[in-house]
Amino acid sequence: MGGRHPLQVPAIIQLDVTLSRQSQRHESTPCNFRNSLPASSVVNPIWQESPGNGACRLQRSRGQGFVGSGLVARNVTSSCVISILRPFLFVIISGRSSLSRTGIGGFMADRTGIEWTDATWNPVTGCTKVSRGCDNCYAARFAERFRGVVGHPYESGFDLTLRPERLDQPLRWQRSRLVFVNSMSDLFHKDVPWEFVDRVFDVMEEADHHFFQVLTKRSSLMRNYLLRRYAGSTVPKHIWCGVSVEDRKALSRVKHLQDSPVEVRFLSMEPLLESLGEVDLSGIHWVIVGGESGPCARYIDPTWVVEIRDLCDGRQVPFFFKQWGGFRPKSRGRDLGGEKYSEMPGIFAGRQSP
Ligand code: SF4
Repeated sequence: MGGRHPLQVPAIIQLDVTLSRQSQRHESTPCNFRNSLPASSVVNPIWQESPGNGACRLQRSRGQGFVGSGLVARNVTSSCVISILRPFLFVIISGRSSLSRTGIGGFMADRTGIEWTDATWNPVTGCTKVSRGCDNCYAARFAERFRGVVGHPYESGFDLTLRPERLDQPLRWQRSRLVFVNSMSDLFHKDVPWEFVDRVFDVMEEADHHFFQVLTKRSSLMRNYLLRRYAGSTVPKHIWCGVSVEDRKALSRVKHLQDSPVEVRFLSMEPLLESLGEVDLSGIHWVIVGGESGPCARYIDPTWVVEIRDLCDGRQVPFFFKQWGGFRPKSRGRDLGGEKYSEMPGIFAGRQSP
């Protein structure tokens, strides 16, 4: 859900660049939204709009690593070559211990590039899009690269897949972690049986030396599930539940969260796509804001972020500003008015921030 990971695979960059040279004129991938960018705005310098067709053009540099690589090439020649080489690239990648530590999409997950968590845990992978926030889903983009690669965890691309063999991972992590649940899916997708969600919650309850962050866009389904499982009680404090709010239309999710029997509630406003106005923060314990990252990153206006920061200040809700976004998550940093905002929920006080 929602987050983005930088991924550096220096060993194959040269190969990738060589493969893609022929195809550079064809490296456009359609974006779903055209942005109207005010001239005075802070604009991602690597974002370019192609007039007339609503597409953004991928640009390449050595530093961009695997993300935005020639695997998205539309050129037939290079696509064919890449298809042939993809399994070998997988072998190269999977043999690199540095990649396996990044927590990208279901490789080892005890570290992650996501600023507001320590680790990712994906007992489910794959999803389907439900709202504007999903349009450039990084998880889908990542997983689909490996569709058809035999033996790869994403051999089936972004198809919804239950992964019971991963259920005990948090129980095996001795050191306490802040664990983002299903960074590559949505636990409350309608095709995930509640019996399986029960197993995920069983593990989270047992592994109470960790903090878990469950984030969903299926907020009404989460509310219904939690009301059933925790009838007459509440979700334990080490299991935080949150909803994504990318635009005003998604504000209804906040109400669903407020109606859920949860002790620690959070909002993830990433990618923030418009001003949210006056958000009701009653019963909310943490707000994360971030701009979109990736080849089709959409514009984020600083005034929208400042509005939310000020709202959080007024309500004394911890505020975490993750990133401005851009081609890569760190393209434009995370300074807001010269400061970095990394506040965490009160229950987390005293623990070292991620
Ligand atoms: S809800 Fe599913 S499709 Fe949408 S951003 Fe999250 S993981 Fe991607």
